Amino acid sequence: MPSRGESYLVGITIDNVSFSYDSGEALRDVSFEVMQGEFVGIIGPNGAGKSTLLGVISRILRPGSGAVYLEEMDIQEMSHKSLAREMGFVAQDSNIPFRFTVLDLVLMGRNPHLSRFGVETSEDLRIAKESMTKTRVANLAERAVTEISGGERQRVLIARALAQTPRVLLLDEPTLHLDVSSQLEVMDLLKSLSWKEKLTIISVFHDFNMAARYCDRILLMSKGRVEAVGPPGTILTRENIRTVFGVDVHVGHSFLTNSVYAIPIAGQKTKTSRKEWTVHLICGGGSGAIPMRRLVNEGWEVTAGVLNILDTDYEVAESLGISIAPEAPFSPITEKAHEQNLQLIKGSNAVLVTDFLIGRGNIMNLQAAIFALKSGLPLILVIGDPNSDRDFTNGEGTMIVRQLIDMGANVTKSLDEALGVLEGLRRDPLGGRDLT
Ligand code: ADP
Ligand code: MG
Repeated sequence: MPSRGESYLVGITIDNVSFSYDSGEALRDVSFEVMQGEFVGIIGPNGAGKSTLLGVISRILRPGSGAVYLEEMDIQEMSHKSLAREMGFVAQDSNIPFRFTVLDLVLMGRNPHLSRFGVETSEDLRIAKESMTKTRVANLAERAVTEISGGERQRVLIARALAQTPRVLLLDEPTLHLDVSSQLEVMDLLKSLSWKEKLTIISVFHDFNMAARYCDRILLMSKGRVEAVGPPGTILTRENIRTVFGVDVHVGHSFLTNSVYAIPIAGQKTKTSRKEWTVHLICGGGSGAIPMRRLVNEGWEVTAGVLNILDTDYEVAESLGISIAPEAPFSPITEKAHEQNLQLIKGSNAVLVTDFLIGRGNIMNLQAAIFALKSGLPLILVIGDPNSDRDFTNGEGTMIVRQLIDMGANVTKSLDEALGVLEGLRRDPLGGRDLT
């Protein structure tokens, strides 16, 4: 037996489990422990081995090597009946006997407890009803199981498993095919079962955000192995998701649900190789969000500044992994941030300036654009609507923009046009300009 912690009681130990189908290996050297009353979510792409792992834990499948322990007992040494009293399993496509009522189905959960004559006692009925109350399906008792909604059916199946009065509940994608409110209902139910009933729960989830929001820990699987296991915040990282799911995500923290979340960023896979070229973006107030995404998606290396922390552009830049010259939230640009911005500009091949609103707080960013031109860098201005008044500095901003144009900035009317100019410059850096 593996060693165990002092302060928590181990519910389940998966010890170095490997499993192969005829078609090939599905699990290799899988080890982890689940504490009593813990709610662990298993996530991973299709074919990662999640269902196979649940099959091994529930003893539907026998591991080729390794073992599963329920507390101290190797489950292979337990009788069928005693295991069924300890573990409930809600399989992915639990087949439901036709024409059963909800109560009949839930009562089936009492089977492992019945005497060999198979007669249900009033105690069995009481436990079945109690399970239905916990999962809020008591009002459906006499309904046919074929005539209830998907969310209700899932809660009935959980009630059946609870009627076994198990200590461990295993579920395979219990929220698949459910609408979002039914998903939340099932997740809330599982959470409360783990908290209030001290039930140990291991469940596969297809939605990693749902798992992150509700589970105590997450097991991330990939190609039959454990890629990582830990609290949601340590598992839902850009690196892990990219490695395992092959998608780039923005990872954030929701203060509303107090949980981490990851949103896939579309188009990241189509990256081309413009990486040797760095474009520095001068933007702000949300004007940089679309340009940053486009630039990154089209394969440019991108830096940006100065951006105020909490500014939309700052958040987008951060989510895209762009190097930023940051400034404190709502603060005017300080000398330090300006200097950092100039350093990023020095490290770039071209500078793109969006038509952000110019105020006293960010006028330094236009000075940075002057610096770029003076350093001999190509500068591209995107001026969507030349008549829109975006200068809140009594004309000083407008004067600097004019100065930029006089100094040789490329004026473009749209982002598409600006990107075209950039591509032209990359192919022919002198761009026909005479630098002498
Ligand atoms: P997941 O639940 O993570 O999608 P599975 O555990 O169902 O993954 O499958 C893991 C691997 O084992 C896959 O390559 C799958 O094709 C294979 N597999 C699953 N079930 C069977 C089976 N009954 N017979 C043969 N191969 C299977
Ligand atoms: Mg599966």
